[in-house]
Amino acid sequence: MSLTEKAAFCSGRSFWHLEALDRLGLPSIMLTDGPHGLRKQASNADHVGLNVSVPATCFPTASALASSWDTSLLQEVGVALGEQCVAEGVTVLLGPGMNIKRHPLCGRNFEYFSEDPLLTGKLAAAMIRGVQSQGVGTSIKHYAANNQEHGRMWVDAIVDERTLREIYLRGFEIAVREAQPWTVMCAYNRINGTYCSEHDWLLNHVLRDEWGFEGLVVTDWGATNDRVTGVSAGLDLEMPGSGGINDRRVLAAVRDGDLSEAELDRAIARNVSLSLLGKELEHRQAPANQAEHHELARKAAAQCAVLLKNENHALPLDRSANIAVIGAFAKHPRYQGAGSSQVRPTQLDCAFDAIAELTDSPGYAPGYEPRHSEVDIDLLDEATTLAHGADVAVVFAGLPGIYESEGFDRSHMRLPEQHDRLIQAVCEANPNTVVVLANGAPIEMPWVEAPNAILEAYLGGQAGGSAIADLLFGLANPSGKLAETFPLRQTDTPTDQWFPGAHRQVHYREGLYVGYRYFDTAAAAVLFPFGHGLSYTQFEFSNLSISRDTLTPDNELLVSVQLKNVGNQEGAEVVQLYVSDLTPSTYRPKQALRAFTKVMLRPQEERTVTLQLDDAAFAAYDTEAQAWVVESGEFELRVGASSRDIRLKHRLTMRSDQQVSEAQRTSKAPEFGNRKLDVTDATFASMLGKPVPPPESSRPYHLNSSISEIAESWLGERFRKRVVAGFQKTMGANSNNETTKKMFEEMANNMPLRSLALLGAGNVSSRSLEILVAVLNRQFITALRLMIARRPE
Ligand code: BGC
Repeated sequence: MSLTEKAAFCSGRSFWHLEALDRLGLPSIMLTDGPHGLRKQASNADHVGLNVSVPATCFPTASALASSWDTSLLQEVGVALGEQCVAEGVTVLLGPGMNIKRHPLCGRNFEYFSEDPLLTGKLAAAMIRGVQSQGVGTSIKHYAANNQEHGRMWVDAIVDERTLREIYLRGFEIAVREAQPWTVMCAYNRINGTYCSEHDWLLNHVLRDEWGFEGLVVTDWGATNDRVTGVSAGLDLEMPGSGGINDRRVLAAVRDGDLSEAELDRAIARNVSLSLLGKELEHRQAPANQAEHHELARKAAAQCAVLLKNENHALPLDRSANIAVIGAFAKHPRYQGAGSSQVRPTQLDCAFDAIAELTDSPGYAPGYEPRHSEVDIDLLDEATTLAHGADVAVVFAGLPGIYESEGFDRSHMRLPEQHDRLIQAVCEANPNTVVVLANGAPIEMPWVEAPNAILEAYLGGQAGGSAIADLLFGLANPSGKLAETFPLRQTDTPTDQWFPGAHRQVHYREGLYVGYRYFDTAAAAVLFPFGHGLSYTQFEFSNLSISRDTLTPDNELLVSVQLKNVGNQEGAEVVQLYVSDLTPSTYRPKQALRAFTKVMLRPQEERTVTLQLDDAAFAAYDTEAQAWVVESGEFELRVGASSRDIRLKHRLTMRSDQQVSEAQRTSKAPEFGNRKLDVTDATFASMLGKPVPPPESSRPYHLNSSISEIAESWLGERFRKRVVAGFQKTMGANSNNETTKKMFEEMANNMPLRSLALLGAGNVSSRSLEILVAVLNRQFITALRLMIARRPE
């Protein structure tokens, strides 16, 4: 390749395609979203779910899939996704999304698996294996610490290395080591001052040198900050391309000696390898079996729903009962989230129709107007009257689409008022009420005591409606377990004080205390704990035995328990193994999930379940030593059905010559002030191993200032309005969709100026943005110089 050709290969040719080179037989391969279905856009392209895509099976979204705790299911879904890629000639599916749920309000939590890195990593690895078994690739995303939507394109995640290693990178590490995804997508944000797209430590050192990643690193769409620095830092591919701007910069950098050609070659070799893998697809476009995939989506949705509560044997329902179905979501399902993951389903099941197939003439009342939040008294009255006369009321409630989307975080953890009021009113009218929830992330439930049963169906995909009916009537037995804690109140969340941050930074001051790691250490009450989920049958755990009582770090440990289905229905239980360090010399959460398996048992069937632990289950990351360390001491193994439902315990002794360093031992840790976390600047500095970076000022403005930041000034506000209007113009047919409108406005506000030049592909030049910045900063002479200077973009 000539140098110019190489530079061109640094970025995409179009929104979804890589560069091609006919002379060398390199095709232009396609990458597309992901993750819970294929979003292949045949004509107009965008990365926010705006333009239509070809129909594809919409599987449950990640927060639902994770609740299955079932790696074989994830693999099966992965295979189906891979088949769809083959059918559509797509080389890489942009997923799975695997960021940790640091706070329940993150707008994209529905696209992520869990608050726990082990569960995240194992599920992602299974999905990757499934997709890649079909000869197509995956792109695990968004690497890393992309745990919120607010300021996602520029926010600086200030986080200590131990927390990164043990929480935010760990899932990625497991997925890379166990499943070798073809590509990794780097996140938009910064980590400790450096954009992920030019983070040498993150991309070269950790991902490649330590974990052995062999594939290609691609940017999130528009995540490039400095393309030239990115090449040296291990960023191979910029998507969707910058209309040639960055390619020219790379070319100039090599010519000027600022970037070595060898570094460029490394990136290009990875891009070329991917194109060659894609070439294989050209001869294989077998159609996917949509009907089979729909059935798989139905099975998956049934295995994902979590039965949170079931009193007085409210569920399963009796088919001969007089059932009142209440709530518009029963007829107009909420089944996926908005943004780049939005799939156009091949068909859509609604719960009401599926219920009507299983029982005679159920009553129906919408109860609310699905697009509004305010209470509609007439609809409420109609619903309570219907509920009053029924044997059982089934209320479908949850979060409307406008509450959960890529591009913005939720502003609170409550349901819309009318959903809360409806549930309360129906429960008063008929105590035998079952609530079915559709939402992608935890909500507060002020009415939790009122209904007899609560089924958390999450966003169950296109077959979610029929899966719910299967579960309600006992044709399927619930087996989902929460992959995240449901706090009682938003303010109980350990990270709440530091979310979503201020002054262009977000401080991860809570350190390792994320999700249940905090709640269990603080012994704080929760609404529903991590790992919780009921079944229509019951399981008994007995006889915990281990393969050795004294362990050294290089031994593997087998932990066995007897699990018996003591009920009279076939069902599945997830055996969860937590490890607690009883003698830590550096701070550690009370317990952490270290192994799990899902086991299906017939009535009265008993099985020995064996889980395997290696040294990783006992290790802590020592920042000073730059290594995982397993200390001598006492550990407790805790086996149970949730983090708060531990049935069996066993102590063991670790004998090790590894020691936590002095610096790590004396490092300060978050403190529990009256159960709330208390992390002073001094403590946080100690965790970081350096002073806490000062708050970033929004002035003087620069190319990474966001559109909303420059709007503080008169000129900036005028500019902002033009950008938002320009964005809205591109919405075309979608301009009446409230969720899309909100997403666009929030995305525009949060966008850094530089992205306008790069994503605008030629409409706005970098130079005009530099002039704008100079004028906003009142540097009029600089602005003038820029205006008269002649230089290429
Ligand atoms: C999202 C990615 C997605 C990409 C392409 C970005 O806005 O963050 O998850 O894969 O767009 O649509």
